[in-house]
Amino acid sequence: MLPTIALVGRPNVGKSTLFNRLTKTRDALVADFPGLTRDRHYGRGVVGDRPYLVVDTGGFEPAADTGILVEMARQTLQAVDEADAIIFLVDGRQGITAQDKVIADRLRRTGRSVLLAVNKSEGMNRTIAAAEFYELGLGEPYAISSAHGEGVRDLINLALADFPPEPEAADDEDLPPKIAIVGRPNVGKSTLVNALLGEERVIAFDMPGTTRDSIHIDFERDGKQYTLVDTAGVRRRGKVFEAIEKFSVIKTLQAIEDANVVVLVLDAQDTITEQDGSLAAFVLETGRALVVAINKWDGLKEEQRDQVKKDIDRKLHFLTYAKFHYLSALKGQGLPPLMKSVDAAYAAAMSKLSTPKLTRVLEAAVQQHQPPVGGAIRPKLRYAHQGGKNPPIIVIHGNHVTKIPASYRRYLEGFFRKAFELTGTPLVIQFKQGA
Ligand code: GDP
Ligand code: GDP
Repeated sequence: MLPTIALVGRPNVGKSTLFNRLTKTRDALVADFPGLTRDRHYGRGVVGDRPYLVVDTGGFEPAADTGILVEMARQTLQAVDEADAIIFLVDGRQGITAQDKVIADRLRRTGRSVLLAVNKSEGMNRTIAAAEFYELGLGEPYAISSAHGEGVRDLINLALADFPPEPEAADDEDLPPKIAIVGRPNVGKSTLVNALLGEERVIAFDMPGTTRDSIHIDFERDGKQYTLVDTAGVRRRGKVFEAIEKFSVIKTLQAIEDANVVVLVLDAQDTITEQDGSLAAFVLETGRALVVAINKWDGLKEEQRDQVKKDIDRKLHFLTYAKFHYLSALKGQGLPPLMKSVDAAYAAAMSKLSTPKLTRVLEAAVQQHQPPVGGAIRPKLRYAHQGGKNPPIIVIHGNHVTKIPASYRRYLEGFFRKAFELTGTPLVIQFKQGA
């Protein structure tokens, strides 16, 4: 599972600077889901070739003891609880403050191991900058500079050291498709899960060992097997499944990463929000296959339906590869076509594309439309092979490939997508210089 690093610390120590450095140009997933009083930022970082999640918990001001700040501290502690590794930032220029001590105390009481990062230590003697912070009782302090990137990579490697990358499952395609049903609170995820699983044969249901484990539910539908990657700690109660935990952004993002196909649930009876867009963008970034379920389609008038469709077109226009389904989980309407798209998306994401066939399609694409001349040179494309799956990666070999513009890459993507009938999955086109 994707390891999660939580950044905590009082305001102004440099959490968002570190967050931005770790997640680079990637868009942050800003979560102001209902129930969160303050924005938290979620992003995806990569060290070496391993991805991880990073959460900027926002400010942490446990010194205040009323209202919103206490609530915020509780949420920060929830993030700490859900995270695999915790980085506590302090300001090396300012030295220890009373707030740092309070936070250190709270963190110590969680019993979790914490990495103490002394930020803003560029141009300082690292040993001296760090030394003062031993007093916080959280072990060895590490001097870093978020702004300049010093010590950051080592810190992340340290944070992830206890979470070795999972070995690649060799025979992925022998396993049932893994589906994650995601969406913000109240869009109807649990209702959809029940509609899908309710009368079906649930084959296995493993109980999680800890709150940080995710749950997988194997089930059969129309004679096909699937595995549901659960996001909210579903429990079975008689015939009904119910979410026993609060909505968890971290679990949602981990489930997306873990899945083969993501079903993004939207609420047709509510407006399409920024959070819907953020989740969709995250799915896109992970490269997962995607089907969009616009739920609560029942009880809407014709003009309301038109409005919803327009709204979705406008706000989720970047989801060009996904199929959209309008359904009612509550009434059990529209489920078979949804599952058909899930099957198609899975097949597309896992498809095997042979080199001769890819090369033939490439030749046809080039014949129809040559790559444009870049400078005085026309790039020459020779052959293509598959570089990976989930999502499929097509590697195209040729000369002067750096001169190929984005528009031509999109043209090829569309051409390959059509030729191989790849719906529901992103398709990655890479160019490689030479044979
Ligand atoms: P947050 O409130 O903890 O998220 O802190 P920010 O990331 O917003 O940073 C607070 C201030 O500290 C900003 O003015 C940053 O430019 C500055 N800052 C962050 N990291 C560093 C650093 O490594 N060195 C120095 N000198 N300043 C930093
Ligand atoms: P979750 O938080 O995403 O798991 O959402 P729930 O499944 O708990 O549903 C939230 C509310 O929406 C509940 O009151 C459901 O009965 C209602 N709901 C779910 N699906 C539908 C639907 O298709 N149509 C209508 N009208 N209401 C629905």
